[in-house]
Amino acid sequence: MHETMVARSLMAIITEQAAKNNAKPVAAKISCGTLNPVNDEALCFAFEAIAKDTPCEGVKLRVEHKPLRARCKNCDRNFDVELSRPECPSCGGDDFELQPDAPLILEEIEFQTEPRYEKS
Ligand SMILES: [Zn+2]
Repeated sequence: MHETMVARSLMAIITEQAAKNNAKPVAAKISCGTLNPVNDEALCFAFEAIAKDTPCEGVKLRVEHKPLRARCKNCDRNFDVELSRPECPSCGGDDFELQPDAPLILEEIEFQTEPRYEKS
């Protein structure tokens, strides 16, 4: 379960940052590559399950899927590879060099901005 592992490490980072900022996290943005993508739904599901009854409960995850980039050896153009049609959009050539796939990263964490009122 790739997504469960990802969810666990995300939660560890978010929890740490929340403690550091002394704020409640409300959302997080993640980006991942094309060759080893995370499944958005599976990740949100795994995260919700793990985050229940923790400060991360209710945090909304947003996943941005980054395209795979390549450089055409024929016309030297950089382009986004379409896996269904892997060719240079400029010259139609299929001799290109793939760039490294984007890593899975936590781009940003949003915290609640309004002041917290302690329940008495
Ligand atoms: Zn080309």
